[in-house]
Amino acid sequence: MTARVESFTAVAPLQAHLAEARAKGRRIAVVPTMGALHAGHLALCTEARRHADLVVTTIFVNPTQFGPSEDFGRYPRTLDADLAACARVGVDVVFAPDDPSVIYPEGDQTRVRVPEVARWFEGEIRPHHFEGVATVCLKLFHIVGPGTAVFGRKDYQQLQVIKRLVRDLFLPVTIVGHPTQREADGLALSSRNVYLSKQDREAALAIPRGLAAAVRAFSSGERRIEELERLARAEVAGSARSVDYVSCAHPDDMTPLAGTAPDRVLLAIAARYGTTRLIDNVVLGEDPGPTVADDRTVAA
Ligand code: AMP
Repeated sequence: MTARVESFTAVAPLQAHLAEARAKGRRIAVVPTMGALHAGHLALCTEARRHADLVVTTIFVNPTQFGPSEDFGRYPRTLDADLAACARVGVDVVFAPDDPSVIYPEGDQTRVRVPEVARWFEGEIRPHHFEGVATVCLKLFHIVGPGTAVFGRKDYQQLQVIKRLVRDLFLPVTIVGHPTQREADGLALSSRNVYLSKQDREAALAIPRGLAAAVRAFSSGERRIEELERLARAEVAGSARSVDYVSCAHPDDMTPLAGTAPDRVLLAIAARYGTTRLIDNVVLGEDPGPTVADDRTVAA
C-alpha cells in the first residue's frame, strides 16, 4: 500500500502545513527537482528519509536557470506520474507550483550569485544558469525551512554552488550529496534522456566509458591531468555531435586543474548527442565510477 502524499501548489498553505509539523518537532528534509522524476530523483527522496521525519519534494521547472535558446518550453512535465512515484517511495509532501509566478511573483527582482564556484564548466557554457539555481534553491529553503537538503552528485557543480551558498549565508541547512544513479549499462539517469533517439542513446554510452577509462587509469597510478582528460575525451570525441568540455577540476572549489593530479580530482564531461546535451562526472580517488556494459579499453 502506498501512503498519501500531501500536494501543494501555493506557498502559504504549504508553510502552514510545515509549521504544524515543525511545532510537533518533526525534522524536515527537502529534495528540490524539476520533475519528470526517475530512479535518480527517487534515490534522493529515499536518502532524505534517513535524515528527517518529513520529506518534501519540490517539483518546479525553474525558468531562471534556462538560457533563452534552451529547452525550458519543451522540458518534460509529468506531474501525475511524479506524484505517484513520490507516494511509492514515501515522500510526505510535494510542492509543485502551478505557475512560475508562485516563485517569482510580479515585481520579483532579487538574485543571488556564487561567482567563483559557478565560473567554469556549466557556468561558462550557460551564463546565468547558476544564478537561477542558487536563487530558486534559496527561495525553496526559505519556503520549506528544511534541516537537510539532498542533491545529486550527477550535477556536481550545482552541489558545490549550493554548499557554498549555504556556508556564505549561514543557512541552517545540511547539504547532502548523493551518488549518481545509472542505468545498468552505465548511462547516468537524466530527465533529458527521453529526448535521445535509440542511436544517440547507444552513442552516449561513450560518456560513462570515458569516465570509467579515467577511473581505471587513476587507480593504476596515472596522475597527469592531461592524460586523464585525453583518455576520457578519446571515447567521447568520436561519438558526440559536439563536446563542451572533458575537463578536470578541484572537486571542492571547481577550479580547473593542470599538471599533476591531487588525491581527488573531478573529471566532468558535457557533450551533445543529437539535440540533447548530457552532463556526467566522476571524482577520481573518491567515486567507484560507472560500471559500463561495453568496457572497451581505448588504445593509448
Ligand atoms: P533535476 O530535476 O534534473 O533538476 O534534478 C533534481 C535533483 O536530482 C538534482 O539534485 C540532481 O543532481 C538529482 N539527480 C538528477 N539525476 C540524477 C541521477 N542520475 N542520480 C542522482 N541524482 C540525480
